[in-house]
Amino acid sequence: MDLYEYQARELFAAHEVPVLPGIVVETAAQARQAAEQLAAPLVVVKAQVKTGGRGKAGGVKLARSPQEAEEAAAAILGLNIKGHQVRKVMVAAGADIDAEFYFSILLDRSNRQHLAMCSREGGMEIELLAKERPEALAKVAVNADGIDEQVAAHILAEAGFSQDEVAPIVPVLVKLWQVYSEEDAKLVEVNPLVRDQEGSIIALDGKVSLDDNARFRHSEHQSYVDTQSQDPLEAKAKEKGLNYVHLEGEVGVIGNGAGLVMSTLDVVAYAGEKYGVKPANFLDIGGGASSQVMANGLEIILGDPQVRSVFVNVFGGITACDQVAEGIVEALNILGENATKPLVVRLDGNNVEEGRQILAEASHPLVTMVETMDGGAAKAAELAAERK
Ligand code: GDP
Ligand code: MN
Repeated sequence: MDLYEYQARELFAAHEVPVLPGIVVETAAQARQAAEQLAAPLVVVKAQVKTGGRGKAGGVKLARSPQEAEEAAAAILGLNIKGHQVRKVMVAAGADIDAEFYFSILLDRSNRQHLAMCSREGGMEIELLAKERPEALAKVAVNADGIDEQVAAHILAEAGFSQDEVAPIVPVLVKLWQVYSEEDAKLVEVNPLVRDQEGSIIALDGKVSLDDNARFRHSEHQSYVDTQSQDPLEAKAKEKGLNYVHLEGEVGVIGNGAGLVMSTLDVVAYAGEKYGVKPANFLDIGGGASSQVMANGLEIILGDPQVRSVFVNVFGGITACDQVAEGIVEALNILGENATKPLVVRLDGNNVEEGRQILAEASHPLVTMVETMDGGAAKAAELAAERK
């Protein structure tokens, strides 16, 4: 889960990483008030979107009066930055910058360790720096002991900082490591980490990505879950604990096992080509799925107004086909009149005959049984095309 800059700054502040005060607002008039409240000679108005390069896109503006802050917010609110609509801006006290640095810590999965990256040349996009001046970007592997003062000093030396520059930066890097490890982040990036005219080190921007697999350890992170910019169907699926990804097409897909569902998407996309229809979603109900899980899944998929037909593709394993078939029948009962779209069902594997028998006996008018995956994809695509 990626955080907004203002949320990253909150976490930084909680770990005593130096940041300047900021206020998040949604209108230009509020931005003016925020600037008055901050009463700083220089404020910066910053788009709050989960993407970098805001500065270049006109999403970061300096203002020297509340009036200018209001104008800056008016110009930034509503901007579209790399596909992200700006709904909020942060009005923050501005720094009087002497130098801009770069520092990040990330999880380096392929090497099974953490990686710190540091440069004296901050501010510019790191991908660009890495490409154009790779020698200016120090990369230092960090083991599970993390970053203490010694390690921090080593990282800074690798990045070419001089002896006398290092001292004030060291404690900031140590605290950024604490953010990374104590909050279970997989990325903490500060670009720019600045030194101001008085020699203070300040995190002027913050990018934090939290590890969703550690969410259970952090009930306090719940408020970071972004319901506004999340797809409503995906949000609902998440509430129900379903492994669902919303796509653009018309054929709903349910299967058990991520691999099977992925290949189902492929065959549906292929079969749908001649009709101009595509898969509407990824939904893996997993092994051992109960009829309630099937009902929940069907409910999400049928709640997608784009969906014209549904392909249920199940290979019975731990959950045998007869249980799956019962699940489908029960799900249709639970949904009652809310089930309005045709279902194509392909069952195979453990207890397939019993499963088919159950569906045959139920003879639900919306259900069509098919023998093969390709046949099912073709049928579901055809039904979706008919109803388009
Ligand atoms: P990004 O473009 O999305 O990475 O947004 P940043 O927060 O990094 O801001 C982009 C640039 O705006 C920075 O590299 C700075 O040069 C400038 N900037 C941001 N905040 C301040 C500030 O408080 N004072 C000054 N003078 N410049 C700032
Ligand atoms: Mn930045």
